[in-house]
Amino acid sequence: MTHHADLAASELVRAEAPLLAHAAAQVGDPQIRHRGTIGGSLAHADPAADLPMALLALGGSVEASGPGGTRRIASDDFFAGFFETHLAPDELLTAVRVPRRPGAPWGYQKFVRRANDWAIVGVAATGGRIALANMGPVPLRAGAAEQALADGASIADAAQLAADGTAPGEDMHADVEFRRHLARVLTRRALDQRN
Ligand SMILES: Cc1cc2nc3c(=O)[nH]c(=O)nc-3n(C[C@H](O)[C@H](O)[C@H](O)COP(=O)(O)OP(=O)(O)OC[C@H]3O[C@@H](n4cnc5c(N)ncnc54)[C@H](O)[C@@H]3O)c2cc1C
Repeated sequence: MTHHADLAASELVRAEAPLLAHAAAQVGDPQIRHRGTIGGSLAHADPAADLPMALLALGGSVEASGPGGTRRIASDDFFAGFFETHLAPDELLTAVRVPRRPGAPWGYQKFVRRANDWAIVGVAATGGRIALANMGPVPLRAGAAEQALADGASIADAAQLAADGTAPGEDMHADVEFRRHLARVLTRRALDQRN
């Protein structure tokens, strides 16, 4: 039930998980940030949204509570499909956990036509993980680019692989090829931004 505005303004979150605070500050406009919540955004599972991508980049997890007790679901396993999660029908999302990474480099890129829009494509990168928004039915990891970086590739070369394994849709804002192009360009910018 934590509003985006509270996450964005939290000194604790800004110090320990600055990527998360930044992502919350990119959501919509002030009215939206004072009404929308991180739990609602994650449970809503819009692949174009900011918080799901941020949680995935951070390697965070959620707690799901129901009649059977409470279980933890890793962000890599939480998103099931377009606006769909692995929460059971009788479960509520009751907590969000992210690793503490004070001072860890991170990059965040969100391509929009208007300031308060959802991402046409988004990229969040930190700690060897690269997450993409709006490049498929769920927020995705750019696995090939992550692997290339781990193997010592340059940022430019790794970013060229950012759209590999993705399945972006097409709409009035962008066709598939434009989204793939954006994923590569924004990944390079996000990785450059980390340093
Ligand atoms: C004009 C506009 C612009 C926006 N721009 C952006 C943007 O740029 N980026 C972005 O990321 N988002 C954006 N949003 C989405 C916004 O950030 C909200 O977080 C999102 O709409 C979900 O709303 P909510 O948090 O109030 O959740 P709700 O609407 O209350 O819930 C959403 C869904 O999740 C379920 N749910 C809610 N909480 C829980 C829980 N704890 N456990 C289980 N299920 C739960 C609800 O039953 C519902 O099905 C925008 C929304 C609007 C209206």
